[in-house]
Amino acid sequence: MYVIFFGPPGVGKGTQAVIIADRKGWAHISTGDMLRAHVANGTDLGLKAKEYMDKGLLTPDDLVIDMFLHRLAELRPDQGFVLDGFPRTLPQAQALDAALAKQQKSIDIAINIHGSDDVLMERMLNRAKDSGRTDDTPEAIRTRLEVQKPPVELLGHYRDAGKLKDVDGLPEIEVVTESLLKVLEGVGK
Ligand code: AMP
Repeated sequence: MYVIFFGPPGVGKGTQAVIIADRKGWAHISTGDMLRAHVANGTDLGLKAKEYMDKGLLTPDDLVIDMFLHRLAELRPDQGFVLDGFPRTLPQAQALDAALAKQQKSIDIAINIHGSDDVLMERMLNRAKDSGRTDDTPEAIRTRLEVQKPPVELLGHYRDAGKLKDVDGLPEIEVVTESLLKVLEGVGK
């Protein structure tokens, strides 16, 4: 099954994506993790992306799409995936659709994990203490919360296709996991 997790920074979509991918035997694709690896390895892409990441801004589409499509091409044809942090813009969603369509495939479900700004800000400030991330300054966190909520047109793209579901990301981790599993069961694949 091909699944997307949407959600604002701090809502726990990364944590949930790891849990769900593990339970289902799917690939977990996090473009944030991939970009951080590029930064750590000092690649050209990493050097370019770091400027945006450290400010809490989105990395430009051309850089991220190219990196993502290479990762997608590495998957086995029968392997499911959960996307965590991609797509974040409509052009990214269109690139994803086009890549899957070439193999007569498409996204099965997109889940919008949501939560209130106040709680998310507090969670992210707490996480920042031991994350070691260079974009976990209070200023960058504020910017990420402001500019990195899934845009309306991106959610609309999946809602119009009848593929968008909502899940509350604020309860305990296990409760959110159960809600996500229930939604996935409902897809019936
Ligand atoms: P994340 O770990 O998903 O919060 O991503 C960390 C940072 O990587 C973001 O603040 C962006 O600068 C960048 N990033 C990750 N995924 C994307 C994406 N799909 N589009 C643009 N920028 C991204």
